[in-house]
Amino acid sequence: MAKWVYLFTEGNTSMKNLLGGKGANLAEMTNLGLPVPQGFTITTEACTQYYEDGRKINDEIMGQIMEHITKMEEITGKKFGDKENPLLVSVRSGARASMPGMMDTILNLGLNEEVVNVLATKSGNPRWAWDCYRRFIQMYSDVVMEVGKKYFEELIDKMKEEKGITQDVDLTAEDLKELANQFKAEYKEKIGEEFPTDPKEQLMGAIQAVFRSWDNPRANIYRRDNDIPYSWGTAVNVQMMAFGNMGETSGTGVAFTRNPATGEKKLMGEFLMNAQGEDVVAGVRTPQKIDQLKEVMPEVYNQFIEICNKLEDHYRDMQDMEFTIEDKKLYMLQTRNGKRTAKAALKIACDLVDEGMISEEKAVKMIDPRNLDTLLHPQFDTEAVKKATPIAKALAAAPGAACGKVVFTADDAKAWADRGEKVVLVRLETSPEDIEGMKASQGILTARGGMTSHAAVVARGMGTCCVSGCSEIIMDEENKVFKLAGKEYHEGDIISFDGSTGYIYDGAMPTVDATIVGELERIMAWADKYRKLKVRTNADTPADAKKARELGAEGIGLCRTEHMFFEGDRIDAFREMICSDTVEEREAALAKILPVQQGDFEALYEALEGNPVTIRFLDPPLHEFVPTDEEDIKKLADAQGKSVETIKAIIASLHEFNPMMGHRGCRLAVTYPEIAKMQTSAVIRAAINVKKAHPDWNIKPEIMIPLISDVKDYKFVKKVVVETADAEIKAAGSDMKYEVGTMIEIPRAALSADEIAEDAEFFCFGTNDLTQMTYGFSRDDAGKFLNAYYDTKIFESDPFAKLDQVGVGKLMEMSIKLGKSTRPDLHIGICGEHGGDPSSVEFCHKIGLDYVSCSPFRVPIARLAAAQAALK
Ligand code: PEP
Ligand code: MG
Repeated sequence: MAKWVYLFTEGNTSMKNLLGGKGANLAEMTNLGLPVPQGFTITTEACTQYYEDGRKINDEIMGQIMEHITKMEEITGKKFGDKENPLLVSVRSGARASMPGMMDTILNLGLNEEVVNVLATKSGNPRWAWDCYRRFIQMYSDVVMEVGKKYFEELIDKMKEEKGITQDVDLTAEDLKELANQFKAEYKEKIGEEFPTDPKEQLMGAIQAVFRSWDNPRANIYRRDNDIPYSWGTAVNVQMMAFGNMGETSGTGVAFTRNPATGEKKLMGEFLMNAQGEDVVAGVRTPQKIDQLKEVMPEVYNQFIEICNKLEDHYRDMQDMEFTIEDKKLYMLQTRNGKRTAKAALKIACDLVDEGMISEEKAVKMIDPRNLDTLLHPQFDTEAVKKATPIAKALAAAPGAACGKVVFTADDAKAWADRGEKVVLVRLETSPEDIEGMKASQGILTARGGMTSHAAVVARGMGTCCVSGCSEIIMDEENKVFKLAGKEYHEGDIISFDGSTGYIYDGAMPTVDATIVGELERIMAWADKYRKLKVRTNADTPADAKKARELGAEGIGLCRTEHMFFEGDRIDAFREMICSDTVEEREAALAKILPVQQGDFEALYEALEGNPVTIRFLDPPLHEFVPTDEEDIKKLADAQGKSVETIKAIIASLHEFNPMMGHRGCRLAVTYPEIAKMQTSAVIRAAINVKKAHPDWNIKPEIMIPLISDVKDYKFVKKVVVETADAEIKAAGSDMKYEVGTMIEIPRAALSADEIAEDAEFFCFGTNDLTQMTYGFSRDDAGKFLNAYYDTKIFESDPFAKLDQVGVGKLMEMSIKLGKSTRPDLHIGICGEHGGDPSSVEFCHKIGLDYVSCSPFRVPIARLAAAQAALK
């Protein structure tokens, strides 16, 4: 028979998966001999079983719970419902990873009218007894029966008003008794039954409610945001109550052994006398600083300090603790490794190393790479966030905090920014022509698009905050107005949004500038010692490349050459090239483009100082580049000496029903080999020039052909590249070496990787397209239905953000094996968005990639994640 329930004396901290964090640590504190009210933990497996059994606690689990109630009664010397010495318990959730505030808690369970009277008489403190009872009815009704807190709060407010008082603590025993009766009446009215009096029945209801709360909407969202699998389940802790509300010699509090905001080594915490549970954090009364406990109860304070030191020493990490003082006796209710800001995480890790408490490896392992994001971008003031209510939540596409006046076009964004306004660009979706406006904006908010939409990819590259795919926005771009959360927003109205959480707020939210503290440098240096994976960057401009180098990139893994044409007059030449209808016209347009590309490539080689640079040949979904407004169309017509109608006809002929699977990637070079020719010349000439200026640099161009599906389309383009490159090298009298390789981003390419590797010197996984085509989900449209996939638990995360290891990952593993079978020295990387996602980086380490490549601001995240993967 499986064991579903453990006494605190039976567990330890290594049993987190089974007992949850809280349960495992209660057991560990018990083992350490600390004052812990005793009880038992119902395992996470019991929670999973509850769901498997159709949301029922089966007889076997029920039997073990009952057995453990008896054991608990023996240990505590108290009994459920007893008239001499009644047992009251708390029932609290506790998953493997802490999910603060996401699930439910019930205190004072075991009370009924008789038991209250026993407590009142025995303690000589009827006020306390009735306070416990009214709290219990309130919590039980809310959490177990879902009656809703507000009905009870209204009754409390009414009572206070009638009595002419403002504080709960001023309610007398009689008042509280009256309130308890009113609460029970309210319960009966809402539920149609009497409030349960049998403690065992109450307990089963509470346990079910905690299991059920694992699946509540806020827990589901929290899990998705924090990469916590649904399958983990939550444990339930049943613990003897310690009472902080017994009068002025009792109290309750929370404390951190170090400051969770700054990392400073100083105890930080708060407590309230004559209070219980959530009173401290609920803000009903203002709590006192932990230091003041020294004056209020010096002995308890000293004992608490001793325990804090013991716990930190034991766990070798900053602890977040809950305690209760019951009539001058201290009880520990919880300890865990405390949540902290990124800044605090770095400081604490470095301090612990300096204090000789942990090794460098441990320091590297204890920092959540996703947290680093917040250090590299401006952030909202955390206090302001706590107080604000978001108006919507969409995809957290590129981190940072944006606050500004709404504008609806890229031109407006630029014009407003030029005159010193802070603007946020709100669009249905963005396109390359918006780039300057995107740059001029504090942030970008789009109604459509997913994590790999144009806006998201470009914004991440630029380090600009972006929230994408907010489908609740009803957009009217033409009239410059959108509706969200029942309100109309016009040009100039202020909104704020957070690209790290996806939350959108009405009005202005104060921001604080990001600072890179010295500890980041130290941690990164340690990480670099342990990682095996190289970290490159996806950079399209010299400025991006420079930024990425500052952040530690060891090369460029992907330069999307089409992105070099977003700006200024460059897009004009590019459009001329797209809208040419003869080879001569196209060659004339390409001749204008060549020097520009060559100049950019030179700047990239300069910025990378001899580190590898992979240049990907043109891969523009053409629809992103053709002009849409009349003025631009006219300009193009004039430039090409054509009529507006002719240009419009060309644009119409370029229309595709499915552009993401259309005329892009190597298909462009197959149709128009002159494009590949021009790009090869630009790369080779740039490389030769820079090598001349820096003879000691190792410059070996890596030319990457995108979107191949067959060894033959690859070979066709490669032939153009090799012929052109060899001719350029010969003409320059140089001995420059270069490599030609390909992206693996179409399933068929993955499946025939052995053939392809015979001709390709390197592979780079384009997991944006590989995900799109493996699932058959359009990367630009998936946002529309992914929410339904989350709601129905078909998906727990966005496969465009977190690599699907089962399907897409299998294709990658297969390609590596096949590719290396025909070319053992094949070098392989990844440059899809997954290259900067920690769990995907870990997978890339496991399958033996040489490098990951990600947007500049994610480089430190990838470095840390790669080190953690190596240290696992
Ligand atoms: C990819 O498909 O993963 C990739 C890197 O290329 P792009 O996003 O430019 O299609
Ligand atoms: Mg691609």
